[in-house]
Amino acid sequence: MARKLAAGNWKMNGTRAALEELSALAQAHPDPSVDILICPPATLVQTAAATVANGPIQIGGQDCHAQASGAHTGDISAEMLLDAGATSVILGHSERREDHGESSDDVNAKTRAAHAAGLVAIVCVGESLSQREAANTLDIIGEQLATSLPDGCTAANTVVAYEPIWAIGTGKVPTTEQIDEVHDFIRARMIRRFGENEGRAIPLLYGGSVKTDNAAEIFATDNVDGALVGGASLKATDFSPIIKALEGKA
Ligand code: PEP
Repeated sequence: MARKLAAGNWKMNGTRAALEELSALAQAHPDPSVDILICPPATLVQTAAATVANGPIQIGGQDCHAQASGAHTGDISAEMLLDAGATSVILGHSERREDHGESSDDVNAKTRAAHAAGLVAIVCVGESLSQREAANTLDIIGEQLATSLPDGCTAANTVVAYEPIWAIGTGKVPTTEQIDEVHDFIRARMIRRFGENEGRAIPLLYGGSVKTDNAAEIFATDNVDGALVGGASLKATDFSPIIKALEGKA
């Protein structure tokens, strides 16, 4: 059985004032039965980690460079995230793939860097609307998984997030049958590549317009071990019911 994880991606939102939301979340969940992770902008990682120190909430980054250090202006490395107090890093988010031209090969190199530094890599995959309409979803996901994930992925160092691009920030959510189909497919690929034990235990998150009112239905799907949440993770009052819905599954 995979661990359950409620992960929030704040994207390019939040200054120090937003840490109040993190404090409120920590107060609301002093002893959660699922893992909770917030990935704020890089500028807030260190102060966010200090804000939730000694509590159950963990802090992650939203990207890292494939190299540990060097002449890469504006980038940050996995080691730097770890040093700032992060335990995980989101990699290959569709916004990175689109805004920064990241390929699955790039994601693979970044994932290896995250693993080498001791961070959990949350590797995102997902199809566009045109790819779904052309009935190519599973081919696309299969290709992204095969290329983005390096050898050596385990339940301790990797999480996979299925995020259909057309569902991110749009309020559109796939049917539970569609989520079920893709998550079953990803689970089978994980088992085939990383073996029965690790393949079954790698957490599979769904992401794309998860909200208070649809979380429980999404979590009822087999092989959905949690969510990667954008907009609804920014306010503790929105994210907290999603965490509680996941606790209902744990
Ligand atoms: C995301 O950015 O990963 C995401 C799923 O966003 P939202 O929840 O806002 O759709």
